[in-house]
Amino acid sequence: MSAVTQRAGWSRLPLRAAAFVVLTCVTILGVSGWREWAARDAVLKGAETEMANVARSLTQHAEDSLDLLDSGVVGVVSRLEMDGTEPATIAKLRNLLEARKTAMERVHSLAIIDDHGNWLTSPGTISSTFNDDAFFRYHQLSPKREPHVGRPVKSLLDGEWVVTLSRRFNKLDGSFGGVVLATISANYLSHFYEQFEIGRNSSVALVHGDGMIIARNPSNDKFVGRSVADTPLLRDPSLQRPGGAYHFKSPLDGAERVSFFKRSSRYPLMLLATVDKAELLAPWRADAISRMLYVLALVVLIAVIGAVLVRQLQRGQRMAAALVEKEAHFRLLAEGSSDMVTRIGLDERLRYVSPSSIRVVGWRANQLIGTPALAGIHADDRPQVQALVDAMKRGEKEEARVTYRNAHRQNAEVWLESTMRVTRKDNGRVDGVVAISRDITEQKMLETRLETLAIEDSLTGLANRRRFDERLKEEWARAYRDRSSLSLLMIDVDHFKSYNDEYGHPAGDACLRLVAQIIAAEMQRSGDLAARYGGEEFAVLLPNTDAAGCARIGDRIRRAIRDAGLVHTSNHASGCVTASLGGAACRPALERTAGVTSLVEAADQALYAAKEAGRNRLMMSGEVTNLLRRASGQ
Ligand code: GH3
Ligand code: MG
Ligand code: MG
Repeated sequence: MSAVTQRAGWSRLPLRAAAFVVLTCVTILGVSGWREWAARDAVLKGAETEMANVARSLTQHAEDSLDLLDSGVVGVVSRLEMDGTEPATIAKLRNLLEARKTAMERVHSLAIIDDHGNWLTSPGTISSTFNDDAFFRYHQLSPKREPHVGRPVKSLLDGEWVVTLSRRFNKLDGSFGGVVLATISANYLSHFYEQFEIGRNSSVALVHGDGMIIARNPSNDKFVGRSVADTPLLRDPSLQRPGGAYHFKSPLDGAERVSFFKRSSRYPLMLLATVDKAELLAPWRADAISRMLYVLALVVLIAVIGAVLVRQLQRGQRMAAALVEKEAHFRLLAEGSSDMVTRIGLDERLRYVSPSSIRVVGWRANQLIGTPALAGIHADDRPQVQALVDAMKRGEKEEARVTYRNAHRQNAEVWLESTMRVTRKDNGRVDGVVAISRDITEQKMLETRLETLAIEDSLTGLANRRRFDERLKEEWARAYRDRSSLSLLMIDVDHFKSYNDEYGHPAGDACLRLVAQIIAAEMQRSGDLAARYGGEEFAVLLPNTDAAGCARIGDRIRRAIRDAGLVHTSNHASGCVTASLGGAACRPALERTAGVTSLVEAADQALYAAKEAGRNRLMMSGEVTNLLRRASGQ
């Protein structure tokens, strides 16, 4: 995977995480919702099955009841057809009918009706004709011998709603003899249906084929005799089958109902068992709501946690991007700089080295990373740098600047100037040091050169007068401290003016250089200092040297100058370049007239005396004093 696609993938991570959280929430909600819906379906299916069972058994019950009625009716019909409708026969049959009726609870009435519609077996008080009744007309017109179940009617006996089952009986000649009628009370059926506890808003209704309600539980009185012929149950062609589930909205209260209808195969009857959908689903609904509330709470929790995580992911990404940018800036600065940028860990090893290292110390960055940071530093300078680094590591110093010598791969040594600064972790603990080092070798050389120029005499290479004065003061102070002696020689070339005059100024210069060399060669101790005091006059400072030592060195110098044998014809005494020397020694701690100038004056006096005495000689200040004493004594 390339870095670009990797970064693109990385930047889309919060989006993907958010999508995942949303998908999880939607899935949980979807699955839970689907499960609840399935549970609801199961409840409805269960209710349908229950209703189907109720409808089937009650249809069976209705058929059985009618069969029972019919068996009585059939018997009476055959009797009538055999014995005729003589009053005696009728009287006998009436008793039989009464007995049957009492024996069978569900039989509301049994009646024999003659061919004119007269009720032959009516109780004495009621006389009525069934001439106009539908069932009577039916049998009068139809030769069919099958039982006929008529629409529910109000009983003439007690005004109760009843279902009629009737058969025609023939006279001996085969003509219509009348009708035997048996009825079942709607109340009986309704009471029977009461036994089935199928819910508060549920109902069981027996409906006649033409749509009139025969019996209903509950509220039988209210519904019996009402027609439902206009409802889809009787009109919709798809519902004109033996039985099935039927969902409808009640025309009475507008509530949804779940029902099952069952049509009798033998009688024009249909049983409809219904249950209130809302009531049926109420327990499921309560459970489903509580379950869905839990699920919802869970989903909200997931969504909130998800949102927090996504937010954090985004923040992390922003920080990472900022870090990358910061690092890019750092690299841009570090790697674009001509100075060597290094990062030193707490173990004092190099963690980072910028590419300029090749220019500054001659090593490539990858050769230096991991190596000890102070390894290349000159042994003399290392303690100083180490002390600084230690102080920074301890947190005592925030930044420091230090100049030191460092090994270079090709050149022997370079001077480096490092600016160091402590770096800290987020918690404030020191975790290293960043150093910016530059090569200051040239600058250093220039400085040294300037320093030398400031203290060196350009003609002879000896210390100049300024340097001499400084050293004289220092050595005087040291001698004073150490109670040691300090000596001074003043050297002046003899008849140098005439040397110049004779050989020219450049030759004079060359002569002075030679004299300087001779004097410098006699300097044997590291503390000795030879200086050009001015013109053709030199001074030699000899620390820790007494008058005798001074005289010894002075004489050596004098002789060495003369022995050089540089021709100087105007110097008649010897014909070559000579010099006169005045020496003085003192112990500053013991001198009463303590002072630098006294030593110079003493040496100068001695020199003057040496000149007076004929040149090319050394005079010590002590000798001069003795001479003066002697002269004053004379
Ligand atoms: P004396 O023996 O008494 O010291 O005599 P002298 O001629 O050496 O004394 P003086 O002080 O009269 O002369 C010093 C001369 O040194 C004068 C000057 O021309 C010469 N001189 C001083 N400085 C330089 C220099 O730098 N180069 C040259 N070539 N000559 C110098
Ligand atoms: Mg002079
Ligand atoms: Mg001179």
